[in-house]
Amino acid sequence: MKISILGSTGSIGRQAVEVIQKMPGFFEVVSLCGGDNVELLRQQIKLLNPKNVCVKSESNAQLLEKEFPKINVFHGDEGLVEIASDKTNERILVSVSGKTGLKPTLAAIEKGVDIALANKETLVMAGDIVMKRAKEKGVKILPVDSEHGAIHQCLSNRKEVEKLIITASGGPFREKTIDDIKHATVEETLHHPRWNMGKKITIDSATLMNKGLEVIEAHHLFDMPYDKIQVVVHPQSIVHSAVEYVDGSVIAQLGFPTMHIPIQYALTYPNRFEGIETRNFDFIKAARLDFDAPDFEKFPCLKLAFEAGKAGGTVPVVMNAANEEAVFAFLNEKISLWNIYEITNFMVNSHENIENPSIEQIFETDEKVRNSVRNLIKDEKFV
Ligand code: MG
Repeated sequence: MKISILGSTGSIGRQAVEVIQKMPGFFEVVSLCGGDNVELLRQQIKLLNPKNVCVKSESNAQLLEKEFPKINVFHGDEGLVEIASDKTNERILVSVSGKTGLKPTLAAIEKGVDIALANKETLVMAGDIVMKRAKEKGVKILPVDSEHGAIHQCLSNRKEVEKLIITASGGPFREKTIDDIKHATVEETLHHPRWNMGKKITIDSATLMNKGLEVIEAHHLFDMPYDKIQVVVHPQSIVHSAVEYVDGSVIAQLGFPTMHIPIQYALTYPNRFEGIETRNFDFIKAARLDFDAPDFEKFPCLKLAFEAGKAGGTVPVVMNAANEEAVFAFLNEKISLWNIYEITNFMVNSHENIENPSIEQIFETDEKVRNSVRNLIKDEKFV
């Protein structure tokens, strides 16, 4: 299988490299794209011997060009699109963070290349356009997210589905009060109890915005109305999600929490192979599975995401852009954790929705919202 990884130095990308290493001869890596972590990218190049490489900055591109004269080195967002447009690929793992994923995903779809999608923002921003084009081109969008990977495995006949059940670990503040959440430090927020992930998604997991983005992602991936998507808090993260059928049968996918399994499945689908840490699942070791309703008051971002998804058009674009900018500001200690919700909610409610937006309108809206949020924060409107 000829594959490329967009975002090979991030959390998902690194684990994908581990999966590839454990399956010698199965994968041929065409391209690696890895932000500006040149040191790690260098190691990955030596390990996987790709034809093409892409980094963020031109200076790093020049550095790598000198070091690896036989490799084509690209840079920036155009470089990502270039690499995603390479028809040699049989599958592309899109595991870049944030809005960077959208353009290369669309480019790969145009070339008929199947996508293992780990970037949920792509579907939150432009799910209608992406899924429609993928269908027209016969391109598979294979979810890497553990919840959507689970649903993908549990789903047989969509017409017989009653509802999708998406599980949530509840994040680090599941048992905390609203007051604790309001005064949470960056360090506390980055301390996720179950999953070791990148910073942006870890903050989103603490506010449950991540779950909200996943609800929107599920709506697009599985063509399911929002009132048929339920979020259930499940702190052990053993049940990764489930599908309820019209006859009352519920099919769930279980496993110990590790991203290697959903990553590998999205890369090797429809086949299964022995995994990196194929541990014998043990119900006795798992022992106890708890389930609870999400607390929308403590985690208003989840409610906001349901509303934004239902509104459709550019509303999810606004929510995603405002949230992402606010998360960066929180990580830089410019605003509080609760401000992320306040800012995002404010932006969503002051936006005039554009129904059925074009891709240009989506990017324009995204840019406008990010600027507004940066100004709001600079003027200290939300502190
Ligand atoms: Mg997830």
